[in-house]
Amino acid sequence: MSLQKLNIKKNDLVMVTNGKERGKSGRVLKVLLEKEKVIVEKINFIKRHSRPHGQQRRGGILEKEAPLHVSNVALLCEKCNKPVRIGHRILEGSKKSRFCRKCGEIFDK
Ligand SMILES: [Zn+2]
Repeated sequence: MSLQKLNIKKNDLVMVTNGKERGKSGRVLKVLLEKEKVIVEKINFIKRHSRPHGQQRRGGILEKEAPLHVSNVALLCEKCNKPVRIGHRILEGSKKSRFCRKCGEIFDK
């Protein structure tokens, strides 16, 4: 899957459209291109037990965002305030930009 096809980039605002976190939104922290997954800020937390090691005497529970499959998230249009269908358009020059099919808002300025 190419980056263009993935449609979602780092720092995008997305909403979860499927699964237990459905309806939540946040910023994309990381795109895992090969896995077709994204890590979204404060979404899909998993608890991990950390073992005590080194100078750190106590183990504990770490909360960390687990990746979500891209098919379970959608780009959120801040103007429409909901997940929208994305179109592509070439702006002046040759820069390819994504826009909201509903209100025309351009995501890549
Ligand atoms: Zn919109």
